[in-house]
Amino acid sequence: MTSKKSKCSFCGLSREEVQILIAGVTGHICENCAKQANQIVAEEFSVKPQESNSKNKLELKFPKEIKEKLDEYVIGQEEAKKVLSVAVYNHYKRLNSESNDDIEIEKSNVVLIGRTGTGKTLLAKTIAKLLKVPFCIADATVLTQAGYVGEDVESVLSRLLQVADYDVEAAERGIVFIDEIDKIARKDDNPSITRDVSGEGVQQALLKLLEGSEVNVPPQGGRKHPEQKMIQVNTKNILFICGGAFDGIEKLIAQRVNRQTIGFSTTDQIDIDSDSLLQYINATDIKNFGLIPELVGRFPVLSYLDPLDPLALKRILTEPKNSLVKQYEKIFNIDGIKLSFDQKALDFIVTKAIEYKLGARGLRSICEAVLTDAMFELPSSNVKSLKVTEAYAKGRFNKSKMAKLKVA
Ligand code: ADP
Repeated sequence: MTSKKSKCSFCGLSREEVQILIAGVTGHICENCAKQANQIVAEEFSVKPQESNSKNKLELKFPKEIKEKLDEYVIGQEEAKKVLSVAVYNHYKRLNSESNDDIEIEKSNVVLIGRTGTGKTLLAKTIAKLLKVPFCIADATVLTQAGYVGEDVESVLSRLLQVADYDVEAAERGIVFIDEIDKIARKDDNPSITRDVSGEGVQQALLKLLEGSEVNVPPQGGRKHPEQKMIQVNTKNILFICGGAFDGIEKLIAQRVNRQTIGFSTTDQIDIDSDSLLQYINATDIKNFGLIPELVGRFPVLSYLDPLDPLALKRILTEPKNSLVKQYEKIFNIDGIKLSFDQKALDFIVTKAIEYKLGARGLRSICEAVLTDAMFELPSSNVKSLKVTEAYAKGRFNKSKMAKLKVA
């Protein structure tokens, strides 16, 4: 029971000074203290999560099954899909096996090399979804070494913890995708004059994460500060997949390959501009590009993604499980409108994506430019079907803001 004389046993405020005073067996608590208590409890639980069932073994899928699943979402990129399926299978096999001999299977962190918008992130994301493990994406360009403006490297793990709802054990088996890893490459290949050039410090810091160690992670990310409570995360079983465009690496591959062939046959010289050069990529090339050898050593698996040609782009529009065309059909269908596309309209969208040098990422903005008017007008009209022809697509696109942008 509360009376006028009752006080909050925590802050001492009287009944009149607060809105709510909850009576306990021997004391009271006001709304403010209850709120604060609630916050403390939430914080404690987020730092020390309760036992969860994440100890359960992962349901392991065979590489062929993993690849088949990837096929549903990712068009082409056969080599990368195969290499990644095997790497992921081996990684989680290592995780599930309780080793009682001296053979320790090493982690198979992966580097995916390919132009932007070719499906690197999509591959990593799809794998994580398939395995039902926490997954996060980090951008290497915002990371800095300690003492500089930017995010500490450990913030990558903060993100993973966040998506794992602070279940440390789950996060410790997650997948981290680090994008634009090529942007932290040393600017010059000569270590003596580039010792302090930005990038190398970040690479060193990343090394610590990749090596598999106990890392102190600030729960909210950003910069670490002294009073902050840290969460210890062991990175031993976290799979790191890095992606990068590695602009110009073809030249390094060609130089290396041609150097190797000299003396054997002069006709085996490889064309430097060839798009297919990436298939010859190896660890030496990414080292020559500017990744420190220690870091390169932490990425035993290397694969490449092909540039997307018009045919691949068209398939991306229609074939994946959640392709853009399927998504738009669904959006219209909810309003009872049947949407369909002419082949030529799809070709037009692909041509524009190439023209604007947007790759697969541009398909969506072009579709939006073509369909926005229809999405605005049709739901409140009596129209029950829309056939997007080439003329319709052209007409709408040319009226859009996007068409006014100059192609670089
Ligand atoms: P990046 O290689 O830059 O990481 P993303 O994986 O983020 O590229 O691709 C951007 C978008 O383009 C994806 O969300 C996806 O919709 C589409 N996309 C790119 N490549 C493919 C592909 N091979 N198959 C299907 N969709 C793709």
